[in-house]
Amino acid sequence: MNSKIILLKYGEVVMKGLNRSYFDNLIIKRVRYLLKTVDGEFSLDYAQSTLCIRGDENADMDTAFEKMKTVFGIASVCLGFECEKSMDAVCRTVSEHMDTLIGGAKTFKCVGKRSDKRFPLNSPQICAEVGGIILEAKPYLKVDVNDPEVSVYIEIRDKYACVHGGGEKGACGMPAGSAGHGLLLLSGGIDSPVAGYMMAKRGLRVEAVHFESFPYTSERAKEKVLELAKEVTEYSGKMHVNIISLTKIQETLVKSCDEEYFTLLLRRFMMRLAERVARRNGALALITGESLGQVASQTMQALGVTDSAVSLPVFRPCIGMDKEEIIEIARKIGTFDTSILPYEDCCTVFTPRHPKTRPDLEKVLEQEKRLNIEELEEEAFATLDTVVVCAY
Ligand code: ATP
Ligand code: MG
Repeated sequence: MNSKIILLKYGEVVMKGLNRSYFDNLIIKRVRYLLKTVDGEFSLDYAQSTLCIRGDENADMDTAFEKMKTVFGIASVCLGFECEKSMDAVCRTVSEHMDTLIGGAKTFKCVGKRSDKRFPLNSPQICAEVGGIILEAKPYLKVDVNDPEVSVYIEIRDKYACVHGGGEKGACGMPAGSAGHGLLLLSGGIDSPVAGYMMAKRGLRVEAVHFESFPYTSERAKEKVLELAKEVTEYSGKMHVNIISLTKIQETLVKSCDEEYFTLLLRRFMMRLAERVARRNGALALITGESLGQVASQTMQALGVTDSAVSLPVFRPCIGMDKEEIIEIARKIGTFDTSILPYEDCCTVFTPRHPKTRPDLEKVLEQEKRLNIEELEEEAFATLDTVVVCAY
């Protein structure tokens, strides 16, 4: 048996009532799935709003710990040492792992958590005893209860005790897939992978659609998007990416419409095609990475014109965020370095020199009258190819 133990503390789901088990099962499913990718055999045990993971002697608990930080629905993740529920065992465990628990710190405090109230010592007494052992082993240490460099937690739980250095923040949010199914318009940029991650965090199962414009966009640009999707799946779980070619539509727009409307008309095509995919596959909302005012097609007026092409709700989780804030999330979830690879996107080919920033819907509809929308969409839809992407 491995003496290391991982504790996953549940977040928002603990507020759920009768349908709580629905959320719990999704978390457990995701955890089991991730653990299958880690060396060793693991077992799970749930009690007191905490999922506890134990591993056999070959289990790579450190890698498992890292992976658990991507599970939506989990508020914090602790890697600790398990022992029998007695003060002797707790003190022995603290002594054995003293260097890991204290590291190079000069100040510390102990935090006792006793969920089993029948345990003979109360929390202050547990802390006093463990603190004494630590000070004996490292007499240079000072206790600082307000701002210690490290904290040593002693948890007395129902069947066991556990010692750890405090949890790290979990992925929070709601379990992946608990809120239903949404369709992400995924480009190769910075914003849309972040938008996908944010909606997955609120419990959506995210499916994606990507529009390419071969040969104006390259095979490598498509691979980059699939790589981004894969990076998002580290959090969201398995994702289908539908790829649709817009080449014919873009060539037709260039021939038939006024240049200043190209982007808007194209965006309306994207939304309509995305809506078709969504309706066919059961997604109840579209998701985009737009942020108010970021570019000409993201003004209030332009977004209104884009939205009016479809009737499904459009979720734009980045709408109120600055680029810097979006980048911060992109870095955290590991999509940023892929996003900045310099491949073209279909939005960047045939871009108007002076796009309309305050478009009028009537004028846009007039432009669309010049096109056989139904036929163009049918043709584009016929190019649809679906790739199943998953990190695991
Ligand atoms: P991003 O960084 O996500 O590419 P952006 O700031 O470059 O966004 P736009 O190019 O105007 O903005 O695109 C706005 C949104 O439209 C994107 O966030 C994405 O949801 C969607 N989108 C743009 N291009 C594509 C594409 N080729 N395929 C699928 N969706 C796209
Ligand atoms: Mg873009």
